[in-house]
Amino acid sequence: MSIKNLAPLRPIHSVPDLCMACGTCSAGCPITGMDGFDPRKIVRMVLMGRDRELVESKLPWICTLCGKCEYACPMGINIVQMIRSARGMVDRDKVPGQIHKGVELGLKTGNNLGLPAEDFTFIIEDVASELAEEPGFEDFTAPLDKKGANLLHTLHNKLVNTQNEDLVHWWKIFHLAKEDFTIPSENWEGVNWGLFSGDDDAMKIVVGRIVDHMKNLEIKNLMYPE
Ligand code: SF4
Ligand code: SF4
Repeated sequence: MSIKNLAPLRPIHSVPDLCMACGTCSAGCPITGMDGFDPRKIVRMVLMGRDRELVESKLPWICTLCGKCEYACPMGINIVQMIRSARGMVDRDKVPGQIHKGVELGLKTGNNLGLPAEDFTFIIEDVASELAEEPGFEDFTAPLDKKGANLLHTLHNKLVNTQNEDLVHWWKIFHLAKEDFTIPSENWEGVNWGLFSGDDDAMKIVVGRIVDHMKNLEIKNLMYPE
């Protein structure tokens, strides 16, 4: 399957062949020119069938997947999906940085850090009890797996790892707004690195876990940190 065929149609019905090389995408892209990156160049490579060259280059990994290029494109070309598809064609052991390792850990353990369930519960309870020592938050708790809560709160792993203070910021808002929230005790990861690594299967599994939480806990609203 070629990258061109993997770029599905957008709602306004457009196909990659409609690219007219106008360069609006490049003008809208915040990183055009960085390390030779240019979304128009990527689209042209795809249309010329230079998939392998693109996949073996570092270009797909320079993109931030912000989507500004698509927003600007008058022909509605699905540029982000082209870039994600190129990433997905890279051998997993050649995916740069920690992204694929995070995907593997997330699939195996339910979070991208590989944090054991008991450590996660300890951190959540510890941070919650610290907050409960502050005036006005004495009755604060951070409920895990509360059935019928109004809001499911998935977590960015850095809130659990190094940035507990951001967790406290959210919880303060919830408490003051009298929000009835809950956190899943397992598969709590809210960061879907399959999105960034181009791994559609992994991405679907992570999304599916959140859907399962909402069904099992009978929750209708989701706060998703990504
Ligand atoms: S903005 Fe759209 S039509 Fe213009 S060069 Fe970029 S992809 Fe092609
Ligand atoms: S999605 Fe990538 S190519 Fe498009 S504007 Fe953002 S950084 Fe540029």
